[in-house]
Amino acid sequence: MTTPVYQNFINGHFLKNQSGETFAVKNPATDDVIYYVEVADAFIQNAAIQSAKQGFAAWSTMSPIERSRILLKAVALLRERNDLLAKIEVLDTGKPWQEAECVDVQTGADVIEYFAGLAPAQVGQQQMVGEDFYYTRKEPLGICAGIGAWNYPLQIACWKSGPALAAGNAFIFKPSEETPLGAIKLAEIFIEAGVPAGVFNVVQGAAEVGQWLTQSADIEKVSFTGEVGTGKKVVASAAGSLKDVTMELGGKSPLLVFDDADISQAVSAAMLGNFYTQGEICTNCTRIYVHKNVYQQFIDELKTRTEENIIAGDPLDPNVNFGALISKKHQQLVMSYIDKGISEGAALLTGGKTLSPASAPNGYFVAPTVFIDCTDDMTIVKEEIFGPVMSVLTFDDEDDVIHRANDTHLGLAAGVFTKDIKRAHRVIHQLQAGICWINSYGNSPAEMPVGGYKQSGIGRENGIETLDHYTQTKSIYVGMTNIESPF
Ligand code: NDP
Repeated sequence: MTTPVYQNFINGHFLKNQSGETFAVKNPATDDVIYYVEVADAFIQNAAIQSAKQGFAAWSTMSPIERSRILLKAVALLRERNDLLAKIEVLDTGKPWQEAECVDVQTGADVIEYFAGLAPAQVGQQQMVGEDFYYTRKEPLGICAGIGAWNYPLQIACWKSGPALAAGNAFIFKPSEETPLGAIKLAEIFIEAGVPAGVFNVVQGAAEVGQWLTQSADIEKVSFTGEVGTGKKVVASAAGSLKDVTMELGGKSPLLVFDDADISQAVSAAMLGNFYTQGEICTNCTRIYVHKNVYQQFIDELKTRTEENIIAGDPLDPNVNFGALISKKHQQLVMSYIDKGISEGAALLTGGKTLSPASAPNGYFVAPTVFIDCTDDMTIVKEEIFGPVMSVLTFDDEDDVIHRANDTHLGLAAGVFTKDIKRAHRVIHQLQAGICWINSYGNSPAEMPVGGYKQSGIGRENGIETLDHYTQTKSIYVGMTNIESPF
């Protein structure tokens, strides 16, 4: 069987590039090349802009309710094709089927559905100014771009295109070159649902293609998901044409476990927030601060459950709940952090090695890893690892732990476990993070805005306010009286 080659998706169909350049995509669980993708060369880039201009002309003049109706058809198709799309995500990312089957496509579809419902309700203002008055219109921005990370490829494409399209914009999306297929399938679905050609285009390639998007003067906004360092480059480049930006970046989020907490629940949260999607989630609570009084109980249960309940293996096996990391390079990076943790004096409670499960012997697995005896100055406690590596620390004073939790330039997420309702709110209000959970961790419904404080991001995704981020306000003053002029 020949290995498939996918082209860029422009103006409602696949378009061949002129350079002939392609790149290979590997299944992280097998190390096999599963398909090739054509790089978006100058010809494709130009075609994408022309296509998006035409798409915008057609889409932005439709009424919000017409757009909503079409987007809801796309939502139905996404749900109908859940298993097919979930399998693509498993093969591209290495994440377990049991997650992708119920999360990746569903949470993507939910967000498009949410914004499709919201768009017709978006209204302007009207106010009298004497006998004159003004009114405002919420108008789309024009052509928007999305640049995605590799951990939730389809979901990220949906979270960015959902509000953008609902508000009447055209979109050019660049998935990560590690995971390019989900966005192509979304593009096909949009066309099938009736979204006009050119409204959603997919360009493929690595950083250079992303850079072109951030530089293009024809693009009004870029919504980026990725590392803090890349985000800074994107903002700098977008400044050249004063683009609007949304930045969804990395984190090193704290979870505070007080001594009155339900410890089993807190362990569940810590495990979900470090080992779900084999640790490749931006909001992960990779710094767990446990009150000294419950520390031993916490780490005993954590060790037992990590060693007994995590099943690594072929991600397509529905019993497997722990998959492979995205690439060999990333596996090596995560292992280098583990080595650093050991050399800086942290103790391994469990894990700390690569895995080669019988059902996926060539996969890029790293064992679920827990470090104890950690201190705030260790590299593993300060830097985002983006793998299954948890650092456990202790505390005994509320103010002190809040100070330690906030002592970072990142501020994506935070959590607190306590049965004391006053403490829960008091503490969470002082934590410098954009996405917070009390006695819970990781849930991110379409209705809830998400985004980072400090260097973890700019702007928000999801929630009502995001629709505003894809529109601009036009103010229109209406003269009802004669103009008074000194001339
Ligand atoms: P990267 O920053 O490496 O890449 C993100 C995207 O940017 C990719 O599509 C990449 O292309 C592209 N890119 C790389 N360089 C440039 C550039 N100079 N200009 C424009 N685009 C560029 O992130 P990862 O893909 O490694 O994703 C992991 C990171 O994403 C973690 O830090 C994680 O915390 C963060 N993340 C944040 C989320 C949030 O909502 N806050 C959610 C998910 C992840 P290519 O990969 O093809 O080279």
